[in-house]
Amino acid sequence: MVAWYGDIEEVISPAEIAKRVAELGRSISRDFVGRELVLIGVLKGSFLFMADLCRHIELPITCDFFGLSSYGDQTKSTGVIRITSDLKRPIAGKDVLVVEDIVDTGLTVQYLLENLKARRASSIKVCSLLDKPSRRVVPAQIDYLGFSVPNLFVVGYGLDFKGRYRNLPFVGKLPDDHPEIAG
Ligand code: 5GP
Repeated sequence: MVAWYGDIEEVISPAEIAKRVAELGRSISRDFVGRELVLIGVLKGSFLFMADLCRHIELPITCDFFGLSSYGDQTKSTGVIRITSDLKRPIAGKDVLVVEDIVDTGLTVQYLLENLKARRASSIKVCSLLDKPSRRVVPAQIDYLGFSVPNLFVVGYGLDFKGRYRNLPFVGKLPDDHPEIAG
């Protein structure tokens, strides 16, 4: 029987994700011991990662979300970043942890850090589930990283293609001959 997600091939398994997310949570808890953190999730791709990560952070935290978009329905970055939803609370004087799904060209993280610095946070760290270092256009700060991936278009565990596949429990690879890419 063909799975509902077709021929998307698993690249990182649910067990590997769970193990790494727990490790990241432990590192963050250690590094910020005695402090309070504001987690800022970058929507929509980080929503599952943020939900799992925050349950492994043993510190007082608050959560906020930044809606940013650098991809239309394409698999290549447009380099144009749009704010689709702003933070709901000021972050001046706070320790901030940005939670990203994937760093690709680095343009989104660069934009985000400039924007957040202007709001005078006390410190800003970046935690990304995935990194595609081979695609970097500008240097990107990543303080906590889940996995490096090769130059593939990945979906699942929050990451989408045309809005779909976010609910896959694994990170998978879209086939190069996927009809919607090829077409
Ligand atoms: P950057 O600004 O670093 O080029 O891109 C960051 C954003 O592009 C990510 O937050 C993500 O939304 C999107 N992106 C980059 N690479 C991929 C990928 O392989 N798969 C998916 N689904 N989104 C990606």
